[in-house]
Amino acid sequence: MHELSIASAILDAVRKEAEKRPGVRVRKVGVRIGALSGVEPEALSFGFGALVQGTDLDPLALEIESVPWRQRCPPCDLTFDVKDEGLACPRCARPETLMAGGDELDLAYLEVEE
Ligand SMILES: [Zn+2]
Repeated sequence: MHELSIASAILDAVRKEAEKRPGVRVRKVGVRIGALSGVEPEALSFGFGALVQGTDLDPLALEIESVPWRQRCPPCDLTFDVKDEGLACPRCARPETLMAGGDELDLAYLEVEE
């Protein structure tokens, strides 16, 4: 149900944008989903499709860009993707790194047709 409410929020944002530009048809919406956001891309895609179907926005494609979890090591000024190695800095092995991304849940772009 979590994904369905997010899909609904994305649609609201698309509608708001479309209202600002009369005569323009939104074809595709791109979103950025961080690995830490807790959103399941497949479930989001499914919920989005179900909500769009049969509405004035149909057909509207959803493109999901998955953003990896990133940490930053301040002494090295290095930002890195978190993989199996854990949170330690890959350059200096310092374990205390800061979260630098991965919790995104953003509307990235709209593709429209005049
Ligand atoms: Zn470091």
